[in-house]
Amino acid sequence: MSVFAHPDFDDHEQVIFCHDKASGLKAIIAIHDTRLGPALGGCRMYPYASDDDALRDVLRLSRGMTYKSALAELPLGGGKAVIIGDPHGGKSDALFHAMGDFVDSLGGRYVTAADSGTSVPEMQLMAQRTRHVSGAAPREALDGGMRNGDPSPSTAYGVFLGLREAVRHRLGRDDLSGVRVAIQGVGHVGFDLAQQLTAAGAQLWVTDVYGPNVQRAVDELGASAVRPQDIYGLDVEVFAPCAMGGILNADTLEALRAPVVAGAANNQLATPEIAVELQRRNCLYAPDYAINAGGIIDVCYERTGGSPAQIRAHVERIAPTLALIFERAAAEGLPTSVIADRLARERLRGPVHA
Ligand code: NAD
Repeated sequence: MSVFAHPDFDDHEQVIFCHDKASGLKAIIAIHDTRLGPALGGCRMYPYASDDDALRDVLRLSRGMTYKSALAELPLGGGKAVIIGDPHGGKSDALFHAMGDFVDSLGGRYVTAADSGTSVPEMQLMAQRTRHVSGAAPREALDGGMRNGDPSPSTAYGVFLGLREAVRHRLGRDDLSGVRVAIQGVGHVGFDLAQQLTAAGAQLWVTDVYGPNVQRAVDELGASAVRPQDIYGLDVEVFAPCAMGGILNADTLEALRAPVVAGAANNQLATPEIAVELQRRNCLYAPDYAINAGGIIDVCYERTGGSPAQIRAHVERIAPTLALIFERAAAEGLPTSVIADRLARERLRGPVHA
């Protein structure tokens, strides 16, 4: 398993293989780019079938974080960590203490955060060993009150604003009243988004593989429930993927009828060619890492001690960034994902302001 010759190696600055025999920790940390600041990105825990799968994931994800933070104009670089293990049975205090020690050994070049398979309790364990961790402490919520370190509310707010911008651009509508939205996954981000859409007058269809989450959206928001396999083919204006990656692929595109795709999930495009196909079908795709940047913005301000008002104002910049992407894509006849990458690279070279 070569790193330098790996197809997903993209001039990463540092890749660290971490092993702690006592706790059984096996992990990889990838620091992609620190030109704009410390490499910040989540620590994922997943039972990878092979070390190579874990390496591929961490190389791709860390590069994605560089682009996400640059596009969101944050003074952060891109990094990510993966722990090879089962998040439902393989966790222990010792494992996350050992992971915290490895993060600490990098002296702040990499700052960790929650990701799939990890959440606030694991961040708190790592915080016992390193200060280079975010999302561990309680903080003030965007609308006052207190909340834990979970950045999902900021992510959901950014997705809501981005979705509204996409509807404005593609459908020429300034408000969401009566707009039909299909949400795939009503977990942390999806449910919060559903609440905001309901408040804005949208009509919702939801699905989730976890029944109680669907039921909550039906009971509390009056959403209509559909089976997971039926979410793609609904006659709606917006498809909002808020569950897992890779869901825009040849099979789902066959069924997809929505003229707008705008949701929180990471890595929505199964392959880059899918973006070309979406464009050909006049389906406006809000690039995932542009629309879901609210979480990283939130985490960034946690580090710098920014106020909820500052976080809110920065998250609100997601809409004009998307508008710029949509306009350039239309003018140049290119997929929105291509334009987003280009804009991120431009911002990576220029000055950033938090
Ligand atoms: P979550 O785990 O709270 O919610 C995901 C929901 O999707 C769960 O309820 C799960 O049961 C459901 N789900 C899983 N597979 C499904 C399937 N095949 N069909 C339908 N539903 C399915 O996660 P989250 O924090 O809400 O994040 C959602 C997505 O947004 C993820 O892709 C995540 O990477 C991305 N994201 C989250 C944040 C954040 O701040 N939480 C930030 C950026 C990106």
